[in-house]
Amino acid sequence: MTTYNFSAGPAVMPQPVIQQIQAELPSFQGSGMSIMELSHRSALFDQVINDAEADLRDLMQIPDNYRVLFFQGGGTLQFTAAPLNLATNHHHIGLLDSGHWASRAAEEAQRVHTQVDILGTGATNQFTALPYPDQPVNQALDYVHLTTNNTIEGTTYTKLPDTGNVPLVADMSSNFLGQPYNVQDFGMIFAGAQKNLGPAGLTIVIVRDDLIGHAKDLPSMLDYQLFADKRSMFNTPPVFAIYAAGLVLKWLKAQGGLTVMAKRNHDKAALLYDFLDQSTLFNNPVKPADRSLMNVPFVTGNPAIDARVIAGATDHNLLNLKGHRLVGGMRASLYNAMPKAGVQALVDYLADFEAIYKK
Ligand code: PLP
Repeated sequence: MTTYNFSAGPAVMPQPVIQQIQAELPSFQGSGMSIMELSHRSALFDQVINDAEADLRDLMQIPDNYRVLFFQGGGTLQFTAAPLNLATNHHHIGLLDSGHWASRAAEEAQRVHTQVDILGTGATNQFTALPYPDQPVNQALDYVHLTTNNTIEGTTYTKLPDTGNVPLVADMSSNFLGQPYNVQDFGMIFAGAQKNLGPAGLTIVIVRDDLIGHAKDLPSMLDYQLFADKRSMFNTPPVFAIYAAGLVLKWLKAQGGLTVMAKRNHDKAALLYDFLDQSTLFNNPVKPADRSLMNVPFVTGNPAIDARVIAGATDHNLLNLKGHRLVGGMRASLYNAMPKAGVQALVDYLADFEAIYKK
């Protein structure tokens, strides 16, 4: 029985990439050294990081006036780094309160003395629909923080909010590369790698170059301008994670790029949502227009039955379906590397469970 990993992150990786890593691990490109042993100052690694950046630029059509930075510290560190680097005029940002990770971003911005205005909240509908600004956005804000995909609540912005001239800073951690976005719609995009890109330990920052270099006396490891000047090699970068992410980027290109991935992701998600919508046992509470392609939470309404669903799924090699503790129930994460066959196996299992349950 094939194993399918529905974890929200660290998450499923493309099998051909795992196999390539396995084959290349003892000796990278005939060097006699593993990629894990290679100096980040070597010509071999230079090629790896240059290729990764070039392939990412190609896939996302990143314009020349945006810098691509390779950070560590996860998405969470960017909750601190973004206000320190970009909120330099008024130390005042707006934020759309779309769920848990947006609240975490607000808390971390406040810790570095940034005023955070909540422009709209989904709290009134338990985050089952996305918030938009309640009124025209104050043009004196340094930026507006937006979580494009809400990993726990299972929502995705398909229509971006109108913020006028105020740049949007997007936490794309959980739908990075899952669909095309127009990079120019954002002042900055960031994403932890461990969902759609590669191993944990790498975080991508894509930032418009006129927005950086204004902060004074930042700690070096948080300084976007310094990272841009040093080509992300101010200190030792996460060599292995960048290498693995580079292989995933090449895999994405070989699949046909982000338009192809988006179509596949739509098909996979539709398979599961269509099943849930006709089911009388399982329910996804999210407003259809705001549903995520990447993370699909669902419940039976009875925690004891949910626990049976999850245990039975594990017996069928359908792994990591337990919902986040904040929402309970189940959650299936359907990142790029999840094949449609995995979603079909899940739907078949859920349909069988429902049929037996109703007997
Ligand atoms: N932002 C979003 C949307 C996430 O889903 C997560 C983690 O799941 C984070 C931020 C935090 O990421 P990290 O654990 O890489 O700091």
